[in-house]
Amino acid sequence: MQTPKDSAAARAPFGTVLAPTMAVARFQNGQWQPAEMRPTGAIELHPAAHVLHYASTCFEGFKAYRWADGSINLFRVDRHIERMRQSARSLILPEPDAKQLAEMIHATVRVNHESVPEAPGALYLRPVLFGTSPNIGAAGTPSEEALLVVLASPVWDYFGLKPLRIFVDDAHARSATLMGSVKTGGNYAAALGPTLEARRRYQSDQVLFAPGGEVQETGAANFVLIRKGKLLTRKLDSAILHGVTRDSLLTLAKSEGYEVEERAIDVREMLDWVRDGEAALSGTAAVLAGVGVLIHKGEEHRVGNGEVGEITKTLRAALVAMQRGETPDRFGWSTPVVRP
Ligand SMILES: *Cc1c(COP(=O)(O)O)cnc(C)c1O
Repeated sequence: MQTPKDSAAARAPFGTVLAPTMAVARFQNGQWQPAEMRPTGAIELHPAAHVLHYASTCFEGFKAYRWADGSINLFRVDRHIERMRQSARSLILPEPDAKQLAEMIHATVRVNHESVPEAPGALYLRPVLFGTSPNIGAAGTPSEEALLVVLASPVWDYFGLKPLRIFVDDAHARSATLMGSVKTGGNYAAALGPTLEARRRYQSDQVLFAPGGEVQETGAANFVLIRKGKLLTRKLDSAILHGVTRDSLLTLAKSEGYEVEERAIDVREMLDWVRDGEAALSGTAAVLAGVGVLIHKGEEHRVGNGEVGEITKTLRAALVAMQRGETPDRFGWSTPVVRP
């Protein structure tokens, strides 16, 4: 594992560098214990821990940005805390206390402030919660103990501005029923097989899951269709993760007069749209990444001219400018952690 001080770390791949300090809190005897700050590193875990057998785990991902005035600001942290609590409830894990988790996040940003890169980089925050009760007989019983850890990772560009090749898989769902809106480890393990298979066969970057011809999302990002003055994306339900970036994008676009439609999207409609429209993936890591090609039933469908769309670039720039404090925070999305 590299540390932020390694010179090679300057453009390291997303998530491979961790900041030196993490926050840790334990749920024991029916309550959350006080959090402590520790050097980022190994934790002791019993091999019978609930999470290792029964996948009782969820996580979050969001960023803190260093603004030009020297302050460091979290983007929509309240939404992410609320989503983590929702994920915990869905998995019958002890629900993190919102105030305690917020304090852990703030403390993690503050102690690691030297690890926050200049824009366009950011400090990516990764809280993770998992069941630790040592009981291999607990397949049908929730974990009574849990650990909550907040990791931080300096990140640079994720997908960059290269148009993505997306394989459209109309055979598989991304996740088990009801689990799509939960940010839980098993979903990513489940998407890995189809994603690697598509990469081998079609050199695709990601898979867009569309079981029965109904568009869901990719392994870790929401899917949006874009054209002049209009956005179209799947409505929120339990099949997809309720992305904060998706919500930010739709809110921003609406405020700029775009018509925003949220409903079911059929693969045929999507392929028709992209002949002269745009498509993009939205998520904290990617922000808004343009799609260049959709591969469906062995056929390549170019999205527009095959490059990242102009409207996609404009929307991405508007969102990034807000995250970096370059335009006014009209929606109250930024929380200062370190003052100038
Ligand atoms: C995290 C995630 C997203 C994006 O959510 P954001 O809140 O925008 O970061 C979308 N889809 C999946 C499956 C995810 O795990």
